[in-house]
Amino acid sequence: MQGLIFSLLLLGTTAAPQQTPLAFLGEEVAPGEARQLEWHPSESFIGADVTTPVLVAHGPHPGPTLCLTAAVHGDELNGVEIVRRVFHEVDPQALRGTLVGVPIVNLHGFRRSSRYLPDRRDLNRYFPGAPGGSSASRIAHSFFDSIVRNCDALVDLHTGSFHRTNLPQLRADLRQRPVLDLTRGFGATVVVHSVGAIGTLRRAATDAGVPAITYEAGEPMRFQPSEVEPGVAGVQTLMRALGMTRKRTLFGDPEPRYYTSRWVRADQGGILLSEIGLGDEVDAGDVLGSITDPITNERSLLQAPHAGRVLGMALNQVVIPGFAVFRIGIETAADAVSSAAQWNGPSAWWDRVGTDWEDPDQPPVASEAVPRLLPPSPLSEVEDLEAHERPE
Ligand SMILES: [Zn+2]
Repeated sequence: MQGLIFSLLLLGTTAAPQQTPLAFLGEEVAPGEARQLEWHPSESFIGADVTTPVLVAHGPHPGPTLCLTAAVHGDELNGVEIVRRVFHEVDPQALRGTLVGVPIVNLHGFRRSSRYLPDRRDLNRYFPGAPGGSSASRIAHSFFDSIVRNCDALVDLHTGSFHRTNLPQLRADLRQRPVLDLTRGFGATVVVHSVGAIGTLRRAATDAGVPAITYEAGEPMRFQPSEVEPGVAGVQTLMRALGMTRKRTLFGDPEPRYYTSRWVRADQGGILLSEIGLGDEVDAGDVLGSITDPITNERSLLQAPHAGRVLGMALNQVVIPGFAVFRIGIETAADAVSSAAQWNGPSAWWDRVGTDWEDPDQPPVASEAVPRLLPPSPLSEVEDLEAHERPE
C-alpha cells in the first residue's frame, strides 16, 4: 500500500532530473547520502599510511560541486571549524549538487601544530604538484588530482600567518569573472584583490578551470568564534546563491566591499606595540603603533602611509626590520582591477554551474528566491600589489 501511494505521488510530480551516484575516492556515494571518505596521500613517513578524512554530501538533485578545504597550513584552525559547521548543518536530502569538505588537508602539520609539512615545505606553494616531484609536490599532486579536479568551485580556508591576524576577508583574483562571481555570492564581506602566488591551491585551482577563493580570518593556533561565524555565514550564503540550498541566512548587506592593500613594514627591530585594531579606519599619517629597542630604548613610530582600513596586523611581539606589521586596505571597486571584472550579470560559468530552485518538484517560496547578484559600483584603476603580499 505504501508503495502504491509512493508511486502515485511520483506520478503526480513532473519528472525532475535525478542525481546519479557519485564515484569519488574509490567509493560510491548515493544521492541523498553524506559519507566520510578517505584520501590517501601517496607520500608518507616510514611507510605508515596517512588517511585524510574527506566529507561528502551528495544531494538527490544535480547541481554544482562546491569544495571546502582547510588547514592546508596545519596551524590554521578556524577553517577546520568552518568546514565542520557548514558540513554538519547541511541536509544531504535537501541538497542540490555536492558538498565536499576536507577539514584538515595538512594532517602532518596539524598534528604538530605546524604550518608546514614534515620536510619544512609549505604545501601551499606546490599545487598543482607533480607525481615525480618533491614530497610536497607529490602530496599536492595527489590532492589536486583526486579531489580538486572534481570541484566546480573551491573555497580554501586560512588565517593570518606567523603571529598575525586578519580581519575576515576573501582573497580573490578579480580579473577572473567566475572568481568575481564567487565573491559576490559570498555576501557582505571584505574582498582583497590578489592574483595569488604561484603554487597556492587557489591559484592552481583557478588556473585549472576550478574558480577558487581564499577565506582568511583571525590568527593561527586558535579557534575564534568571532572569525568562524562570518565564514560559516559566507559559505552558506554562497551555497544558496549557487542554488545548492534554500536555507535562509541572515548576513546583512549582501554587497561585498572590495579592497587592494599594502603592508606597512618595520624599519627598526624591537618590541611592537599596536595602537589600532583590526577593522579600524585610519587616515594618512595616523600612528598605527610603535617599535622600541629593548636595550637602547630607541623608539620609532609606524604611521599609515595613506588612508584606509586595517585588514591585517601583527600581534604584539618582537619584530625585525622588514617585518610586515599592518596591512592597510584601500577600498575600491571590483572592476577597477581589470575590465574583465565589469559587471553585467553572472558569467557564463555561473550560469552553467549554478543550479536553479525553480524545478517542478521543488516550487520556490517567493520570499526565499535565490538572490540575484548585485551590480557593482564604478571602479577606478588599482595596481596589483601581489608582489608585496604576505603568503596565504
Ligand atoms: Zn594559510
